[in-house]
Amino acid sequence: MAAIKTEEKPKINEIYAQMEEMEHEQLVICYDKPTGLKAIIAIHNTVLGPSLGGTRMWHYTNEADAIKDVLRLSRGMTFKASISGLNIGGGKAVLIGDPSLKTEAYLRRFGRFIESLGGRYITAEDMNTQTADMEYIAMETKHVTGLPESKGGGGDPSPVTAYGTYLGMKAAAKKAYGSDSLKGKRILIQGAGQVGKHLAEHLSKEDAILMVADINANRVAKVAASTGAKVVSAASIQDIPMDIFAPCAMGGQLNDQTIPVLTCDIVAGAANNQLDNEQVHARMLMEHGILYAPDFLINAGGLINVYQEYQGNYKKSLAIEKAEKIYDTCLAVFDLATSEGISPHEAALQKALKRIKDIGQLKMSW
Ligand code: NAD
Repeated sequence: MAAIKTEEKPKINEIYAQMEEMEHEQLVICYDKPTGLKAIIAIHNTVLGPSLGGTRMWHYTNEADAIKDVLRLSRGMTFKASISGLNIGGGKAVLIGDPSLKTEAYLRRFGRFIESLGGRYITAEDMNTQTADMEYIAMETKHVTGLPESKGGGGDPSPVTAYGTYLGMKAAAKKAYGSDSLKGKRILIQGAGQVGKHLAEHLSKEDAILMVADINANRVAKVAASTGAKVVSAASIQDIPMDIFAPCAMGGQLNDQTIPVLTCDIVAGAANNQLDNEQVHARMLMEHGILYAPDFLINAGGLINVYQEYQGNYKKSLAIEKAEKIYDTCLAVFDLATSEGISPHEAALQKALKRIKDIGQLKMSW
């Protein structure tokens, strides 16, 4: 592996500055030479309960990017859990490197690091980690969820994430158009992955005019074939006329370049951290007359699913029932945003922070 240039190496004072700004509790750097494991676990907030969040594996170009990612993602998990009414905090882990590194020994070593945290962090799958990987991790720690259905787990959480995102999109349509019907709406899904494909199925059943874009030609072709969606170029989505944009790939898609040229009325998708800069771009969307369904609220279905499993006696119907609340929570967030003259993102944050503050005070009082 190429040595990291000095200027790309994260400095400890810069890491502390980021933790201070985002109010993190703990950052754990894990290394195992025999397996090549390089993992970073971030625990953002444990006021509501132990931190829970998936493990993402990615070819980060440098450690600073990996730290930035895990800090942002774990913070998002805190708000996602809080606004969804779950008694867990926010955490996340990243594995640095190629997914081909994921041997049994590699994953079990990672499981031991999780075990060493004594339950302060619970893991699950995320990008480039699957339910089968969780089985290896579970050999070393009980602080893991998202196990295969054949092992009594909840299996892949993506269908529940997609269902919640679909309901969040319907709530946004209700707010923007006065009806939550998506029939005839031109909806573009960016990312035909696990969530994107299930979202496309819901939308196709509702007779939306569906478009899908993905950098992976095979995936996008499969989704188009099964749902009747039109394939559009992943490189030029902003130029395409649409009513609703559903980012279901990478974060940071709502930024200075994209927002001014977006033609949609609504942004409602499953990707985490869609706003490149939360404050700036939530406001910019408002100024452009685009209704934004906060990502951490509408993509919470997967977290709801793995949380249900972690509590024991997993029942998919219970997870789905809980995910259905996303619709009403979205409407309440949109109403709060309107009455306070703030963005839906700020309104959702306000609600999430209030619950953490209230429960924190409750726990301190006895
Ligand atoms: P995935 O890896 O299965 O799918 C992502 C897809 O996006 C891939 O097909 C990839 O080729 C495509 N993609 C990447 N860059 C792209 C680009 N520039 N343009 C178009 N397509 C691009 O991931 P997923 O599980 O479907 O998750 C999608 C997003 O939703 C991620 O941001 C993830 O963090 C978030 N999310 C997922 C879940 C879940 O349950 N899976 C839960 C909450 C949030």
